[in-house]
Amino acid sequence: MIDSKDGIIGLIIGDAMGVPLEFCMRKRLMINPTTEMKGYGSHNMPKGSWSDDSSLTIATIDSIIKNNKIVYQDIATNFLLWMKEAKYTPTGKVFDIGRTCLRAISRFEENKDLAEKCGGNKVYDNGNGSLMRILPIAYYCYSRKMQENDIYEIVKNVSSITHRHEISIMGCFIYVLYCVELLCGKNIEDAYNFIQKINYTKYFSLDTITCYDRILKNNIKEYSLDKINSTGYVVDTLEASLWVLLNNSSYNDSIINAINLGNDTDTVGACTGGFAGIYYGFNSIKESWKKDLLKYEYIENLCNDFNKVLNNV
Ligand SMILES: [Mg+2]
Repeated sequence: MIDSKDGIIGLIIGDAMGVPLEFCMRKRLMINPTTEMKGYGSHNMPKGSWSDDSSLTIATIDSIIKNNKIVYQDIATNFLLWMKEAKYTPTGKVFDIGRTCLRAISRFEENKDLAEKCGGNKVYDNGNGSLMRILPIAYYCYSRKMQENDIYEIVKNVSSITHRHEISIMGCFIYVLYCVELLCGKNIEDAYNFIQKINYTKYFSLDTITCYDRILKNNIKEYSLDKINSTGYVVDTLEASLWVLLNNSSYNDSIINAINLGNDTDTVGACTGGFAGIYYGFNSIKESWKKDLLKYEYIENLCNDFNKVLNNV
């Protein structure tokens, strides 16, 4: 039985841990590392507040539950409800929205027929805004036992609602394939070896593939801390999340070390939390962090409903 609480609550806790420290300098966190969920700070939000990463992840899950399949236009409609009405937020307030997301969702508002064409497709549109919300797609593809080509198609379209450039799509594709391998029961190293062996030239240009050389050609685990950038650039975020996962041996340590990289702490926390949640499982997540999450019961119920779709019951 698939239990999406592992990865989804794993992701939301990583996000919430990072929210008060977003844009914090690594140098500062190295001297005074965070080990607990805190409130206020960068966005002045109460403890346990999760951000756009989780809101858009939840919006995606809500759509899959309603339709029992992936409907791009409906996912985009939920994104619009988030942006306009603060649906899927912990406090009824949208306190962070990326520039590329804002433009894409506004384009969707103007022309609702083109959900998968709304995303920005310029090189500067490669923030981590689709990577941070792609996890439900991994669960869905795994549950339907999809092949690589079909996974690519869905990932491309779901990313493209906000992020349509190849670099973003490829980051999401690697993330989803890696999660699917973890869901299949592979360990973090074997799953990593697997994603390195895929033939990406079927889907992406060489220029795009080269952006991921540090993950796909080299061993990202071996890089020293000062070579890992935890910025909002999709490639940096994916590198940082994999680096943390491969260099830690528990969910809790992975999250603490992801957040203490600084900079885009909530999204590096969220992406790492998705991986680590799947791998170490819901029960390994620190209880006090679960209790600290705002709207915890709502999230748990949503995951239970998502599980029914995933397990076909
Ligand atoms: Mg965020």
